Amino acid sequence: MQKCKNCNMQFSWVNIYKSFWWGYKPIECETCNTEHRITVLGRIIFVSLTILPMLVFGYFFSPFDHAFATMGVGIAILIIGSLFTPYLVKYKKVDQ
Ligand SMILES: [Zn+2]
Repeated sequence: MQKCKNCNMQFSWVNIYKSFWWGYKPIECETCNTEHRITVLGRIIFVSLTILPMLVFGYFFSPFDHAFATMGVGIAILIIGSLFTPYLVKYKKVDQ
């Protein structure tokens, strides 16, 4: 998981996760207050683990005729996928 580029302190899963749902809000290190922003690659990883699987399921693999069932499973896929993203998404230090 992502560490602080300045002091090497590991960020908490919750902090990284929250940042995604606030529109990739920058993360501040709790120890040294260095600001970190998500990288472009990080955004691609996030989207390909969440929104992409949801859309692929919805368009191609849905076994349901029912729109609500498809949507429900789609959202479940999005949430499950998002749980793994804090381990994979990369952040970089913001130069001040
Ligand atoms: Zn730090």
